[in-house]
Amino acid sequence: MQFSSSLAAKTLDAHERLNQEYGIQAIKGYSDPMHELIGTILSHRTTHANEVTAYRTMRERFPAWEQVRDAPLSELIDAIKTANYPEIKAPYIQNLLTHLFRERGTANIDFLGDLSTEEAMNWLTRLPGIGLKTSTILLLFTFHKPVLPVDTHVHRVTQRLGLIGPKVSAEKAHAILLGYLPQDALALFNFHKHFYWHGQRVCSWYDPKCHACVLQPMCDFYQSGRTAILSSTPVRKKKSTDV
Ligand code: SF4
Repeated sequence: MQFSSSLAAKTLDAHERLNQEYGIQAIKGYSDPMHELIGTILSHRTTHANEVTAYRTMRERFPAWEQVRDAPLSELIDAIKTANYPEIKAPYIQNLLTHLFRERGTANIDFLGDLSTEEAMNWLTRLPGIGLKTSTILLLFTFHKPVLPVDTHVHRVTQRLGLIGPKVSAEKAHAILLGYLPQDALALFNFHKHFYWHGQRVCSWYDPKCHACVLQPMCDFYQSGRTAILSSTPVRKKKSTDV
């Protein structure tokens, strides 16, 4: 991967503009690492409110992690049904817990805080069903390690700006953007949060509000007349009612 000083400067400029727009936030995550880990699995493709309800219901019905691991699959699916795709998430959670109990004898991952960022990342990404996004969220939000979660919003906005190439995946964007930013957990947390909010509130998938965007003067997608083909924004299929 080639380092580009001009893209690094543009990334820092965008970072600063969104710091001004949204204000610097303190790092907030769940204080319990297991809550953050399982909550992150539940959070895929659902709202925060649905994730919270699913987690709470699961822990009320199965207060011990051994009970979650050993629950009949249909009962765990029912407990987390407010999160989308419970039939996919429930086996992930049980596989993960089985692995943790087998390897560590307990469902406790507090030890990650004592590992280096690289060691902690390597350990987490070897877990069944845990990818780069979940690992980086857990390490940044809970253990304050200097990593950068790149979710669908961060991916889309940084790609539209031209900070990463038009075909770069979210997984590859993680290392590229990290190379442009300070290796500081608070700065990376704010970069993640601000780009996430900006993607939700302004730079939406279908209808970005470019007229109200503080990043417009530096945006490659806007300069292209919003016609650039980007891997983060699939081409919208025309409905038969579209003209
Ligand atoms: Fe997104 Fe438009 Fe802003 Fe570019 S100018 S970042 S496309 S909202």
